[in-house]
Amino acid sequence: MKYKVAVLKGDGIGPEIVESALQIIKKAQDLFGFSIELKEGLIGGIAIDKKGTPLPEETLNLCKESNAILLGAVGGPAWDSLPTEKRPEKGLLKIRKELDLYANLRPAKVWKALIEASPLKAEIVKDTDLLVIRELTGDVYYGEPRGVFKEKGKRVGINTMKYTEDEIRRVVRKAFEIARLRRKKLTSVDKSNVLEVSALWRDIVEEEKENYPDISLEHLYVDNCAMQIIKRPADFDVIVTGNIFGDIISDEAAVISGSLGMLPSASIGDRYALYEPVHGSAPDIAGKGIANPIATILSTAMMFKYSFGMWNVSDLIERAVEEALIQGYRTPDIYSAGFKEVNTVQMTVKIAENMEKLKE
Ligand code: NAD
Repeated sequence: MKYKVAVLKGDGIGPEIVESALQIIKKAQDLFGFSIELKEGLIGGIAIDKKGTPLPEETLNLCKESNAILLGAVGGPAWDSLPTEKRPEKGLLKIRKELDLYANLRPAKVWKALIEASPLKAEIVKDTDLLVIRELTGDVYYGEPRGVFKEKGKRVGINTMKYTEDEIRRVVRKAFEIARLRRKKLTSVDKSNVLEVSALWRDIVEEEKENYPDISLEHLYVDNCAMQIIKRPADFDVIVTGNIFGDIISDEAAVISGSLGMLPSASIGDRYALYEPVHGSAPDIAGKGIANPIATILSTAMMFKYSFGMWNVSDLIERAVEEALIQGYRTPDIYSAGFKEVNTVQMTVKIAENMEKLKE
């Protein structure tokens, strides 16, 4: 099978870190003998400059013809004064909506070599390797009615928490399937003691549980989950929750690993999937060649796992990253005294070399 990947480098450090990811894809192709067609498209600020819109039609078409999308980052000060509707970030929101990418996967892993970077105590975060799955297309961000209205001469703000049964079921199923591929433990997070939407969420999780008897399931209220993630992060495997709870819980979990430059993500639907680092376009370091490429490289590892089912390739990339950290290589964002400081290209070369070494 020939795989097609749409490559959207975007703005700021986007082109630098995506170039690193492409080097890793090429190395994987050489080592495993498969073939991936890579085609580039414009998104974000650069697309505004060249085509007058953050998501040109041809980019959307390219994404729809591809099996997966690899994205750098969008945005930067050059476009900050544009009205919200015309900003680079709109391109990203539109892509997620057009491709119906309803499940956002955010792994939070504590790498042994970077354990000291975590703001929590090493003995608490040791062995943390969890995955937050956040529903991405529903909930209070989209529910109607919404707006600021007048009631009896006073302003009142309204947003509506709303989920249909089907919206809940598809993301919950995805979470059970993914838990099955990991350590077979699923935590569903809701607020069913006070919210009817959450009570429905919990009912559907219970119904779906019947189809996955091999998965151990726990329910947590979101406030309790926020505490447990800090107290016992290593106990979690897969966490599934709605859009607004997931927005907060995924950032909380991310902080445990200690470095923005290390965090990958995936946004998955039934037909398409988009892979991108969690961080933004880092305009303060763009063009300096010092960005940490690891979040984007790990996003590529997720692409091999979730879009192409190539767990061996994904695993090799992750082990190669881990090995580079054990060898002491650090980009400036994760550097501390006693380690070997490297730039973006040097880190990429080390990871590629490790892939070759570990494959043997
Ligand atoms: P940011 O994530 O770009 O940067 C925050 C800080 O982390 C900066 O100091 C930056 O230098 C550092 N950093 C981020 N990624 C790094 C990496 N790979 N290596 C080394 N250091 C790294 O967040 P911000 O400064 O708030 O936003 C900058 C721009 O990015 C804004 O225009 C924002 O809208 C946009 N943004 C885009 C996305 C996206 O494309 N998904 C996400 C967040 C922000």
